[in-house]
Amino acid sequence: MNKAIKKIANHYIEKCGSRDPFEIAEYLNIQLQIGPLGTPCGSYLFLKNHRCIFLNEDLSENEMKLVMSHELGHAILHRKLNCYFIRNKTLLLNSKIELEANLFAAELLIPDHTILDHYTLTISQLSRLLGYEEAIIKLRLASLNGSELT
Ligand SMILES: [Zn+2]
Repeated sequence: MNKAIKKIANHYIEKCGSRDPFEIAEYLNIQLQIGPLGTPCGSYLFLKNHRCIFLNEDLSENEMKLVMSHELGHAILHRKLNCYFIRNKTLLLNSKIELEANLFAAELLIPDHTILDHYTLTISQLSRLLGYEEAIIKLRLASLNGSELT
């Protein structure tokens, strides 16, 4: 599973010439709206045959990038499923679907060389350095080591 998702992420990175989830979404014609959502940080919905991502306007820049990458993962991997991204929850979910979206986000946000350049750092140090939650760093390290998660 990990390798397939890495391959898919790299495919879109190459096609767009960018790791930016916003650029990739635009390239794929995925609708994006940023506004007040209340509790969820973001959501992905398949509406009237359109892929739509909603982001909560109160997210920090890094949170927005992370949630966007996760929802983009759904848009690409699970086109017809809906997701509501909940802070402190979604990154820890073990369902196959959420795990795949998290893995996609980890691949997109953190290139191999970033991990290799800092291979002496611990997970919490990497988390602080890169500004993403430890759960994402853990997934990224697992995929770099080629281990399967399930
Ligand atoms: Zn999700």
